[in-house]
Amino acid sequence: MVEPRLVEDYHSSTASERHIPEHPIFWDETLRDGEQTPGVHFSPEEKLRIAEVLSDIGIPILNAGIPVVSEKEARSVELLAHAGLKAKVLAAARTVPADVDAVIASGATHIAIFVAASNVHLQYKLKMTQDEVLAASLKTVRQAKAAGLHVAFVTEDTVRAPFDFVERLYREVQEAGADRLVVSDTVGIMTPLTFRWYLQEFRRRVQPKDLSVHCHNDFGLATANTLTALECGVIAPHVCVNGLGERAGNASLEEVVLCLESLYGIRTGIKTERLYELSQLVEEISGVPIAANKALVGYNAFSHEAGIHTHGILAHTLTYEPLQPQVVGRERQMILGKHTGKAALVEKLKERGITASEPLLTDLLQRVKTETEARSKSDLRHFLKEYRRLFEHPGLTDVEFWTMVDSLGIRAVAQ
Ligand code: MN
Repeated sequence: MVEPRLVEDYHSSTASERHIPEHPIFWDETLRDGEQTPGVHFSPEEKLRIAEVLSDIGIPILNAGIPVVSEKEARSVELLAHAGLKAKVLAAARTVPADVDAVIASGATHIAIFVAASNVHLQYKLKMTQDEVLAASLKTVRQAKAAGLHVAFVTEDTVRAPFDFVERLYREVQEAGADRLVVSDTVGIMTPLTFRWYLQEFRRRVQPKDLSVHCHNDFGLATANTLTALECGVIAPHVCVNGLGERAGNASLEEVVLCLESLYGIRTGIKTERLYELSQLVEEISGVPIAANKALVGYNAFSHEAGIHTHGILAHTLTYEPLQPQVVGRERQMILGKHTGKAALVEKLKERGITASEPLLTDLLQRVKTETEARSKSDLRHFLKEYRRLFEHPGLTDVEFWTMVDSLGIRAVAQ
C-alpha cells in the first residue's frame, strides 16, 4: 500500500502561470530606503557591517545610499564601493547632473537614477512638466552611461502615473541606454491582481530588457506584490531587511526569499540560515524593533504555547509549522504558560530523564498555569511605556528643536 501524503502541496497547480526567473537578482534597499525609516540613520561603518553580511549571504546588489545627500553619506558609499564586497554597490541620484557626478566619484559601479512620474508629484513636488522630466532623465541617463555605469532608471509613484507618459518616458530612457527599468509602488496601493495586470501592460507597452520593482507596505501587501512581480517574470525585486523603509516599509528580504525557497522550491542562492543573524544585526543597528509576530524573524514566529499546538508539534512539526526554524537560522521555542498542555510538560521533563505519574503531572500543569497567570506585567508595561516614548518622537523633540531655533536667534521677520 502506498503511504498517503502527509500534506498536500497545491503550488504545483499554479506552476504553469508562474514565470519566475531562474536567478532572481535581489536588490537590497536596507541602506537607502531602509535608512529613510523615520528616526533611522547609519554611520559609514554601520553600513559596512550590514553590507558585509548582505554580501556574504549572497545578495547581489546593494543600494548604498545617495552620495549627494551629505559628506558622510558620500563617505558611506565610497567605503562600500571600495570594500571589496562580492555584491555590486549601487548608489542613487536624482535626475540632476551633480547627483550623477557624486555617484561617479563614489566608485559605485551601479546607479539608480530616479524621478517622480505621477501628476501629483510633478505638479506639487517637482513643479516640472512631463517634457522637463523626460529631458532631465535622458540627460542624466546618458551622462551615467558615458561614465560606464550600469544604469537603472526608477520612477517614483509609477503606478499612479498616466500610462502614456510612463510608456514614453521608459521607452526613451531605455533607448538612451538605461540597462534596467524599475517600477515603483511608492505608496503601496497595488494589490497582487492589479499589479499583475499593470506589469503585463507595462511589458507590452515598454518592452523592458530588464525589469525591477519597488514595493511599499502601506496596506501590508509589499511582499505579496513583490512575489506577484516575480511570478510575472520581474528579475530584480527590491527588498529591505526586516521590511524597513519609509512609513510602513518595503518588501521584507527574508519574506520574499523564503516565499520563493519554501513555497515554490526555488533555490535563490541566498544563505537563508543566516537570515536571522542579519535580521538581528539590522534590528540592533537601526534601533527599530522587530514586531514579535513578524513573519520568520519575529520572536514568536517559531514559538508554541497552546496545548493543542505543542502536542501537535511534538508529534510532527508539520502540524503547525510550515518550515523548520533552522532554515532561517532559528530554534523552535516551547513556551510554558497559561495555555500549556500535559504533552509539553512530559517532553520538558524528559530533558532530565524524568517521567511523572498522572496525578503529579496534573498538579504540575495547574501550578504552571496559576504561576504564569499570577505573574506581574509591570516590567512589560514599563518597557512598553518607554518604547512608546522613544518611538513617538524618534527624531528631535519639539523642545530640542525650539531650543535650537532660539539659540540661533531665529525670529519672525515681517513679510
Ligand atoms: Mn521607497
